[in-house]
Amino acid sequence: MQQEYDVVVIGAGFGGPVAAKKCAGAGLKTLLLERSENPGEKVVSGLTIPIYGFLFGPPFIRDGNPPVERPVDGIRNYVIYDVKAGDIEIVEMRIPRPLSPIFAFGYNAYCKPFCTWEAEQAVNAGAELRTCTTVIDFIKEDGYIKGVVTDNGETIRSRIVINSEGSQGILAVKAGVRDKYPPQAISLADTYDYDCPKEVIDRVFGHTLRFCWGFDELKIAPPLGHGNGLMSWPYRNSIHWMQDQCLAMGDGYVPNLRRLFDEYHENITTQLPWWRDEIAPSAKLRARMWEGFEIFVGLDDRLRNMPNYTDGMILVGDTAGLESTGLCDGVPTAWFSADIAADVAIEAIRAMDFSAKFLERYNRRIKAHTIIQWAITNKGRWNLRKAQESHDRKELRARINHQFGPGILTHAGTPLVKSLLHAIRKDPLVIMKWARMFPRYYYNWEHECSSGDRRPIDKQKKRSSGIGWVLFDSLVILFSPVNWAAAWLLEPLAGVVNPLIKVFLPAVELGLGVSIRMEPLFSPVTRWMIDSVKQADPSTFSVSK
Ligand SMILES: Cc1cc2nc3c(=O)[nH]c(=O)nc-3n(C[C@H](O)[C@H](O)[C@H](O)COP(=O)(O)OP(=O)(O)OC[C@H]3O[C@@H](n4cnc5c(N)ncnc54)[C@H](O)[C@@H]3O)c2cc1C
Repeated sequence: MQQEYDVVVIGAGFGGPVAAKKCAGAGLKTLLLERSENPGEKVVSGLTIPIYGFLFGPPFIRDGNPPVERPVDGIRNYVIYDVKAGDIEIVEMRIPRPLSPIFAFGYNAYCKPFCTWEAEQAVNAGAELRTCTTVIDFIKEDGYIKGVVTDNGETIRSRIVINSEGSQGILAVKAGVRDKYPPQAISLADTYDYDCPKEVIDRVFGHTLRFCWGFDELKIAPPLGHGNGLMSWPYRNSIHWMQDQCLAMGDGYVPNLRRLFDEYHENITTQLPWWRDEIAPSAKLRARMWEGFEIFVGLDDRLRNMPNYTDGMILVGDTAGLESTGLCDGVPTAWFSADIAADVAIEAIRAMDFSAKFLERYNRRIKAHTIIQWAITNKGRWNLRKAQESHDRKELRARINHQFGPGILTHAGTPLVKSLLHAIRKDPLVIMKWARMFPRYYYNWEHECSSGDRRPIDKQKKRSSGIGWVLFDSLVILFSPVNWAAAWLLEPLAGVVNPLIKVFLPAVELGLGVSIRMEPLFSPVTRWMIDSVKQADPSTFSVSK
């Protein structure tokens, strides 16, 4: 019997379930297909999802309880000039205490539990999820995609297909919508997952990511600019470590990545003092995985402008080439694009028009999305190769500061402020939801209610902090017309934020440095804030639907 759906979504990674939930919530008969046994069971085990994904992404994630592994307050960069001589400079960009760790710069998560949670929300909204089902082809009629063919031999018809198959986009290439990417645009990530006791991670990392950078002759981090860098993420009881390198250099040279990765990993783990002395004695490697990601697709005009829709199908996330070129974070853009794709699919079904001409509005909205466009055209990481070429210490430090230090505000400021003002203009009460998200996520992290064996949070009622929230909400409601008007007036002026921060960057850096140095003074306030959240009645952080 032939199966028929309104929408078939391919892939239950980060983007697919977002699209499936919205379509099912709109009353459409929606099928979510995933080739693995579990959603999110892709090769990469974990990642850091930046805060803008949560603030401006799908409301059900912002207002929900997704499983996060650790709130992240920023990045500590080790600029390594001579590892043996200890010639290492630190460039730090993080939220200082007492705001951190409750107010986070992002959240670390493992893909499998996070995407499983997302897929559960889609199923609760009415979507059907089928795992262990690989889409191998499309049903095509009169040039339109009219459904999919699976490896079980099923043909499943649908009015529209949302393709969220992730990196490589094999099906998108097969459908003739996109071309294969050149190796210079693809980075191979060599990822390591270490078991490590929580108290060691708390002591050494706290809530801060650690990145390492160095000139190539040190052989500690893959050559700058061609994939470059070495990053370590702290989770609850584990550390995720990744080095990555483009498959081919700009001149076409193809390095022997396996040999390089082994050599660099051995060098850095035995020479970098904090890893060698503080982490290595308690860390136990439990997995090593390789995964390609298309980090520089957005920087090539031709690749960036390849179609992200065709008659009967919309592409989202990595498949649409939306992996970020700067921070290499593709989850927020996968969420944003999946949300937009679902809106367009719903509109197409209402209009009964699935033509490329109608679906072109998806491309227009992606192009108008300020964070997506910043993320996929940001050259900061790519430009690190210039420091490798000049071999200039000052330049290396400056470029790292520009991309992974406070300098990021000179290019991220405008898109972030613009999105913030846009969100407030659309709904001034969103401030209440943002304010609840941080303590709720922190509460879940502290009480470990965000892993596989989640405990229902409302059974852990302790201290009520209701009055404070009532007061806060009243102020937000009272000032909402003012906030709306201010956002409406300021949104068109958001373009000045980047140049302004550029001018005042030295002051911003100084202020940040001083706040970080003054952190010990704030210890009692930090403790009080953490205790208040930990002991609060968790229902005070939940968002009424
Ligand atoms: C090593 C590494 C580190 C990263 N670090 C970060 C980070 O720190 N922060 C961040 O935000 N992003 C990071 N990313 C990028 C991020 O993982 C992706 O951008 C994001 O997962 C894209 O979401 P998506 O839904 O487009 O694709 P995915 O999340 O990859 O989901 C695609 C899904 O489709 C399924 N699928 C594929 N083909 C088929 C098929 N034919 N039939 C059925 N199902 C199929 C896959 O199994 C998968 O579950 C990293 C990526 C890598 C590789």
